[in-house]
Amino acid sequence: MNDSRQKRRVEVMLPMSIGEAYDYEVPDHLGVTMGQFVKVPFGPREVTGVVWGEAVNSKVAANRIKAVQECLPVSPLPAESREFVDWVSHYTMQRPGRVLRMCMNVPEALYPKAPRTGYRRTGAAVDKMTPARRRVLEVLEGRVARTTAEISDIAGVSSSVIKGLADKGVLEPVSLPAEETIPVPDAEHPGFDLSDAQQNAADIFRARVQADDFSALLLEGVTGSGKTEVYFEAIAECLRQGRQALVLLPEIALSSQWLSRFEARFGVKPVEWHSDLGQGNRRRNWRAVIEGEAKVVVGARSALFLPFASLGLVVVDEEHEASFKQDEGVPYNARDMAVVRARIGKFPVILASATPSLETLTNAEMGRYQHIRLASRFGVAVLPAVELVDLKEHRPGAQRWISEPLRLAVEETLKSGQQAMLFLNRRGYAPLTLCDTCGHRLQCPHCSAWLVEHRMLRKLQCHHCGFSSPLPKECPECQDEDSFKACGPGIERLAEEAELLFPDANIAMIASDTLSGPKAAAEFVEAMTEGQINLLIGTQIVAKGYHFPALTLVGVVDADLGLAGGDLRASERTYQLLSQVAGRAGRAEHPGKVILQSYIPEHPVMEALVQQDAAAFFNSERQSRESAAMPPFGRLAALVLSSPDPESVFSFAKNLSRIAPHGDQFLIMGPAPAPLSMIRGRHRYRFLVKTAKNVQIQKLIGQWLKGIKVPSNVRMQIDIDPYNFM
Ligand code: ADP
Ligand code: ZN
Repeated sequence: MNDSRQKRRVEVMLPMSIGEAYDYEVPDHLGVTMGQFVKVPFGPREVTGVVWGEAVNSKVAANRIKAVQECLPVSPLPAESREFVDWVSHYTMQRPGRVLRMCMNVPEALYPKAPRTGYRRTGAAVDKMTPARRRVLEVLEGRVARTTAEISDIAGVSSSVIKGLADKGVLEPVSLPAEETIPVPDAEHPGFDLSDAQQNAADIFRARVQADDFSALLLEGVTGSGKTEVYFEAIAECLRQGRQALVLLPEIALSSQWLSRFEARFGVKPVEWHSDLGQGNRRRNWRAVIEGEAKVVVGARSALFLPFASLGLVVVDEEHEASFKQDEGVPYNARDMAVVRARIGKFPVILASATPSLETLTNAEMGRYQHIRLASRFGVAVLPAVELVDLKEHRPGAQRWISEPLRLAVEETLKSGQQAMLFLNRRGYAPLTLCDTCGHRLQCPHCSAWLVEHRMLRKLQCHHCGFSSPLPKECPECQDEDSFKACGPGIERLAEEAELLFPDANIAMIASDTLSGPKAAAEFVEAMTEGQINLLIGTQIVAKGYHFPALTLVGVVDADLGLAGGDLRASERTYQLLSQVAGRAGRAEHPGKVILQSYIPEHPVMEALVQQDAAAFFNSERQSRESAAMPPFGRLAALVLSSPDPESVFSFAKNLSRIAPHGDQFLIMGPAPAPLSMIRGRHRYRFLVKTAKNVQIQKLIGQWLKGIKVPSNVRMQIDIDPYNFM
């Protein structure tokens, strides 16, 4: 009866792992809009949430409803972002609040920066000049205004000198814009002249951006064909349309060269988004994205969740990369979600790769994605010749990994003044350390994994949980002293061998743990480009994206490494990785050569690499996936259960198995102990759900788990479209 007097109510989504949105009352003086960031009471706390909708049929009793407290001084979360959160939440089967949290993980950015005061010269003369005063006046030459902190920093004076000058009327206070302005990329800044093939591709992109509608495009081009330059033209068109563009890159190490190229094309650097960004830049960049001032953002997968005011293009570069898949937290694949984001925002998405994923190739084949090819390297560069060295015939000798043919090739390359690279995808000195007396293997106490020796750090490390310890003096099993022996190579050990074989070479060893950040990466790139390094030894971090004109030889020390384990995508990934590595060779006028060391030279992956026949490889991969009804011809989801208590997790897994549904359109496999049966002290069991393509896997899992109560000491993670089977 008092309905007519009931205040307006709205649903507010909170960035937490709780149910759905909660209802709140809107006080009359607050005019909240959809998407507005608001402060609301939640239990004893105050939290920031987002207005998600009108609460039309709110059931909360009048005496229990709480009120929105305040609207935050920032633009609302755009409708497209909210729709995206709901979509991702539904698809990944994660609570929407957890997905929302990925969109608003910079709380400071919800408030504008306090305005700053600066000083500039008035023109009045100084009555008594001192060296300190002179320096201040020099810093403020030309009526520029600077803050006290900047002046004292540059001029090397205390703030009292500045205050003294202000008191005397020599300086006057002025208010400075609070936010640093973000430089705007210039679409008309002159770039390269494109080749005909590049121009054709750029024209298609331009038309797609102008069409102002969803489209998905696969840009497949051999390494060095100029894919980047081509998608830059799509970005330029997006800028002309006044919309924002996002580029997702897999490895942050890529970015120093990428950023320079962007700057060469557009005159300024783009806005960055990744985990190495400092707190201040995160705040500034997040705000610039939601306020529409950041025109082009380049970032890691998480950048997809930035609150773009008017996104008009997403490019996913190296779209086949597994690092676009996040396994922890909300498991999602940024490449797939980028397509979803584009559909919601009605704009084009470009997936670029030299070795597209089977998923994407299949989509292109079915006509869902437009397929654009760049068939040759840009300019005079040609693709490198690939040779196999059969390690059964050319054994490198005990505790050695470089075969004679590879040694000769490196020697020749160095002699001719060019650069060589040895690729081994293994960090550290040795992957396994065992006792020579009793055979005891050093294992992580918290994980079912061997400890990896990092000799430079004088430590053994677990690559799963970060545990580390010094090499023990005596064997914990047989108490023998100094009995430990390193087994197998990591790149540190390979570098040791290379130093013996090539004593005059300038060797650099690069892995994710030796490149500490973007600055170190930029220094490395410079040393390579300047020729201070002539023998590069690296893991997958140097395999991708880089363009080193004088690098003409690539030696893959263990081409078989990625094939072990029998993962669904092992062959595909090995093919992609080795093609990428091979693609580093001979990118300029000198032709390149690639040597693959393998014990299984007859393997289809090796043959495809030598023949440079991607099509044949993917056809056979496709057939085997199709006949096994594996993705992309069927659907997969993983259910990972873990607990510190092995009994609890096992009995919960058994219970789930007992109530698992049966049907002819799907199969629920498990529970099985995970291949990594313990990580960080948690015991792990896995189920794998496999369905036909037309089954809604989320619905099936939802029905299976309906009403299930997960014991408090067990964690259950649902992973739709898993990439990780460990
Ligand atoms: P991809 O990403 O396909 O491997 P890149 O975009 O890195 O290829 O291009 C390879 C190299 O060729 C880069 O150094 C790039 O600057 C150069 N390049 C590509 N297209 C042109 C062009 N039209 N004019 C001049 N240089 C180009
Ligand atoms: Zn561990």
